[in-house]
Amino acid sequence: RRKAPERAFSGLGVTRDGIEVELLANVADPAGAVAAADAGARGVGLFRTEFCFLGRGQEPTVDEQVRQYRAVLARFPGRRVVVRTLDAGADKPLRFVTPDHEDNPALGVRGLRTAVAHPDVLDRQLAAIATAATAESAEVWVMAPMVSTVDETRSFVEACAAHGLPKAGVMIETPAAAIQSRWILAEASFASLGTNDLTQYTMAADRDLAGVAALSTPWQPAVLELVRVACAGGAVHGRPVGVCGEAAADPWLAPVLVGLGVTSLSMTPRALAEVAGVLATVTFDECAELARLALDQPTAHEARESVRARIVNL
Ligand code: PEP
Ligand code: MG
Repeated sequence: RRKAPERAFSGLGVTRDGIEVELLANVADPAGAVAAADAGARGVGLFRTEFCFLGRGQEPTVDEQVRQYRAVLARFPGRRVVVRTLDAGADKPLRFVTPDHEDNPALGVRGLRTAVAHPDVLDRQLAAIATAATAESAEVWVMAPMVSTVDETRSFVEACAAHGLPKAGVMIETPAAAIQSRWILAEASFASLGTNDLTQYTMAADRDLAGVAALSTPWQPAVLELVRVACAGGAVHGRPVGVCGEAAADPWLAPVLVGLGVTSLSMTPRALAEVAGVLATVTFDECAELARLALDQPTAHEARESVRARIVNL
């Protein structure tokens, strides 16, 4: 029997003054769920379902999807697993939904947008998720990628409801969704900030292009301002707003995100221990102070350096 590795991570994120911050894992497939559980994660904040089916020419059957989803859910009995519907397109084309030729695929038919031409694919995926959720005890939340409008949010929430999936949320990864979050979160039960794409679309800088890498950081004050606005929109309705982009795994940025109003941080499992370690050194009020400090800086570099210096000197 495989022996679980030593757990450096207790499973909880807690500030120095005892305020709990949910720390969750990002997973892409059943093997990733095993690794996340072994790392001590108590739940999944982002299950990127498209990774189960990359390279496929044909849509996986509902049964096959149910098997994959159950294998992930089974690792987290009684715990939350946020299942993201297929984020196909741009850097992750799936031949059965992604259009053949797009001049600007990052601005094209990707994420939830694929459901306009292929509502049946979304419908079958939701059916598979609902079946898996009934068979396993994990608390399943469902989330749509690449949402920009309230209309898209409404149609996704309705589609989930039709499958008996009441916890339906959206990713906030476009500036439009961040700015509209108070309307979007009137419809959706929760949101999660995809800071990788939110940074890409805010800075108009391809997330995979080395030539614009200097622009592509979530420390950009413009990105942090959109995080603040998105969280404020969630707070109006008492809805949770998490982060599941790489920003959540940056130990200096994590307290800033908490201070901006983010309620959970989901990350690669190997980052959990370090992020929990930094959170344990700051109080909740200090997180708010760090957020103000970061927002007050004119550049990404100054935001990061001023926050880092402040945390080190606390
Ligand atoms: C993101 O954009 O931050 C995100 C979590 O989604 P992905 O990286 O899968 O696009
Ligand atoms: Mg994304």
